Formats: sequence, C-alpha cells, structure tokens
Amino acid sequence: MRHLQAETFGGPRGEWRLDERFTRRGLRLLLKRDDLIHPELIGNKWRKLAPNLAAAAGRTVLTFGGAYSNHLRATAAAGHLLGLPTVGVVRGQELADRPLNPSLARCVADGMRLHFVDRSTYRHKTEPRTLAAVLRAAGAQDAYVVPEGGSNALAVRGCGELGEELRGKADVVAVACGTGGTLAGLAAGLGPGQQALGVPVLKGGFLGDDIRHLQAETFGGPRGEWRLDERFHFGGYARTTPELDAFAEDFEERHGVRVERLYVAKLLYGLVALAEEGAFPRGTVIAAVVTGAPFPG
Ligand SMILES: *Cc1c(COP(=O)(O)O)cnc(C)c1O
Repeated sequence: MRHLQAETFGGPRGEWRLDERFTRRGLRLLLKRDDLIHPELIGNKWRKLAPNLAAAAGRTVLTFGGAYSNHLRATAAAGHLLGLPTVGVVRGQELADRPLNPSLARCVADGMRLHFVDRSTYRHKTEPRTLAAVLRAAGAQDAYVVPEGGSNALAVRGCGELGEELRGKADVVAVACGTGGTLAGLAAGLGPGQQALGVPVLKGGFLGDDIRHLQAETFGGPRGEWRLDERFHFGGYARTTPELDAFAEDFEERHGVRVERLYVAKLLYGLVALAEEGAFPRGTVIAAVVTGAPFPG
C-alpha cells in the first residue's frame, strides 16, 4: 500500500493576516492553512482519514454522506491515491435515478462505488442491524466502515496533531464544526492556556455532547479547554445568506485566500463578529483553521 504524505508547506507555520477588523482591537489573526496540507486530500479530512486508511489495511473502505459531502469526496480521493476500493453510502434513494451532481461525479471519477439509501435507512445507519443490511445490499460485508463525517477515535487522534502544531502559536484556535471530531482532537492537542473555539455550521445544539462522547471514546475522558459559539450557522448546513456570501467574497479579495462556503465562511464571519463585540481581550492571538477549499476549485 502506498503512503499518504502530508505536505508541510503553509501547514505548521500558518500565515499572518493584517485585517483592521482585528488590528484595531489589538488582536492578531493567524490563518492555519490546512487547506494546503495535500493537493487532493485537503484539510481536516486528511487528518481524519489518514489514520483510518492505515487501519483499513487494504480492505474496501465504506463510508456515508449527503449529496454534497466533502467527506465522501475526500474518501474517494484517498482511495484513488492509495489504490483502495471505496464505497460511498449516499443519503437519498431518489438521487439514484438522477444525473450525478458535480460532487458525486467527482467521487465516481475517483473510483468510488455509490450506494444510495432512503432517508430512514440513512438515519438508522449506526444501528447494527441496519448497518449490516446496508453492507450486505452494497456487497461490502468485509468493508472497513468509517462513520459519517469521518469522526471516530482514530480521526480524533489525527486531529490532535493539528493542536500540537499550534502549541504556543495562538491563545484561541478557532475551527468550524460539523460532527465535532476536528474540535475534539484539536482541543486535546493544544498546550496549557490555549483554548479551542468551535463554530457549528449545523443548527441543533447537540454538538457539545457529541464532542464529549468523542473525547471519552478516544482518550477516556475530557481533554483540553474548548467552547462552542452556536450563533453562526446561518440557518443550518449548506444554508447561506446574501450577507454571508458578500462577507466571503470580501474576505477573498482582502486576503487572496479562497473561502470554502459550507464551513470556513461561517467560521471567519463568526470571528469577525466576535472581535467586533469585544469578545477577545486586547493582545489575543487568534488562529483560524482553514479546514478546506471551495469545490469545485
Ligand atoms: C468536514 C469539514 C469540517 C467539519 O469537521 P468535523 O470534524 O466534522 O467537525 C470543517 N471544515 C471543512 C472544510 C470540512 O470539509
């Protein structure tokens, strides 16, 4: 099996951004460019998948996602890079009869076999009987199963390295959250006195419990200092507003960085809002983790 090597350019160092929305309050903004970690398998998806693919040890890797899932694309790309067969279980039986959207088409181009399931089956996919039935129907009984969003104990450990790379570099390290696996690991890897701040992109208020569970499963108990600010989901996953779009475009122009819209735009918007509220004391160094890049690129 080939190995997945992370490029370290941009990665561990991060990039300072002069942005007067921060500097006039005595704050410094560091962009941690995890989007540059690997040309095809980017950001937190690399950190989460690399240890899982090693554990799969050549077996078919099966995972789950919605029609526009970054995680499905990343898994397909990883399978392609490593020569591992991949199966994507996609939410929405009705999608099976339609032309593939660009995200799913990319998965297929990277060699992923897609298996569509109805929404009720998808909802119950972690229950052993439903999972067994899905594996059978997909012809993948022996597959190595990676959960939706890729968040399991190995993934959380992989994201711990993100925290370790940022030790001593910032007071607050902020990341956008979907399933919370990245934040769970990041918080564990940071040093004393550093705090992780999560900005959930889904509506719900359940993420704090999920993160506690992931840390318990991975480390046997809570690790690191972290908190969530649940105000910046803009209506839920993949929802946006003209204001958020305008913010993201403006950020791209100011800083010459492409802003991924599902997660990173909401994180950066939240940080600017918090700075304007005076939420951070003067002198605070804030690192924003750029966990991904726009698709299609
Ligand atoms: C998947 C993803 C996240 C969310 O990661 P979780 O570990 O599920 O919280 C954040 N940003 C980007 C760009 C992603 O693709």
